[in-house]
Amino acid sequence: MGVPYNRLVARIDLDRIAHNYAMLRRFGDNPAPVVKADAYGHGLFPVAKTLALAGAKTLCVGSVEEASALCGAYGGRVVALLGPLDMADARAVVDDDLVPMVYRFDQLDMLAEAAREGGAPVRLALKFDTGMGRLGFRPADAPALVGRLRGDPRLQLEIVASHLATADEPDNAAYVARQAGVFKDICAVFAAAGFVFERTLGNSAAMLAHEECRLDMQRPGIALYGANPFAGTALADVGKELLPAMAVSTIIAHVHDLAAGESVSYGCTFTADAPMRVAIAVAGYADCYSRSLSRRAEMVVRGRRARVLGRVCMQLTAIDVTDIPDVVPGDAAWLLGGDGPSPVTPEELAAWWGTITYEVFCLLGLNRREYAGG
Ligand SMILES: *Cc1c(COP(=O)(O)O)cnc(C)c1O
Repeated sequence: MGVPYNRLVARIDLDRIAHNYAMLRRFGDNPAPVVKADAYGHGLFPVAKTLALAGAKTLCVGSVEEASALCGAYGGRVVALLGPLDMADARAVVDDDLVPMVYRFDQLDMLAEAAREGGAPVRLALKFDTGMGRLGFRPADAPALVGRLRGDPRLQLEIVASHLATADEPDNAAYVARQAGVFKDICAVFAAAGFVFERTLGNSAAMLAHEECRLDMQRPGIALYGANPFAGTALADVGKELLPAMAVSTIIAHVHDLAAGESVSYGCTFTADAPMRVAIAVAGYADCYSRSLSRRAEMVVRGRRARVLGRVCMQLTAIDVTDIPDVVPGDAAWLLGGDGPSPVTPEELAAWWGTITYEVFCLLGLNRREYAGG
């Protein structure tokens, strides 16, 4: 498993995921943790087990295939956020008793047909587009959906859902409020028609900061893995108790001195202006340590920060260890996290990388993983 034949290890602390779950529970009832994309690179099965033990009654994955894989190992309800994409997905929904998000009328036809073939009804999460502009029925579709579901006992409404576009942007709170208003109107149509269902709107950021979005079920993802959706904003404090669950290390292959005027790596983009010492860490863009980290990122070696010098290569990266005594080949170099007083945070690494913490976790999590806790 993982990127083949490399020395990177993504170390996952499951106790931190349990801690983050417990912290989020204080902000809203009934979180249905989002474990799509292999639990944001942390590993679907170990994370699901940890969250089940912590009390999660529902888990949200991405594809129907991921939901089918999970349902044998997890006794709770499994929601597939991407919904059924073809008839094979629709049949899997029935066979494995999954709850798919549904956002097209023809998906209802596929599911009804699969339910007929399988001789069992389908539980549904209807997804509405209230301003994200991605997946979802239009608000105006609600009455037609009421009619469609009333006429077909094979289709059982269980959840009404929508997704927020700006929940992690304090300056865009008005847009969140507008989406929440549209969503409540949609839910009122189903309630007035006599349906009993759960309403779910918010992600991690909404759970932490938007009271009006804390409905029957919450869908936190990134916060469970310990990244603060409000890092660097005026609301940063709401996430300050979150603990990053992933740390990534590799080893140092070589240590050498550089004289003033000598340079390192392709393109000679870094040249020493004084004598210095360089360590070569066994990590590069083939290991999902992006080349855009060239000349920007820092690693932790022996509890101290070491900055990246010159370009990140395919499997090697040069770092400055001039001020870190006794560095030798075989020492650990931490790309994320690390020992000492200043571990590399997911937010820092994402900023150097020019991306968001979500992508950092998903990509670095493709490497070999080792687990602690749980
Ligand atoms: C990924 C996802 C979430 C979780 O969002 P976070 O920002 O990671 O908390 C919630 N709902 C849907 C529909 C998603 O796709």
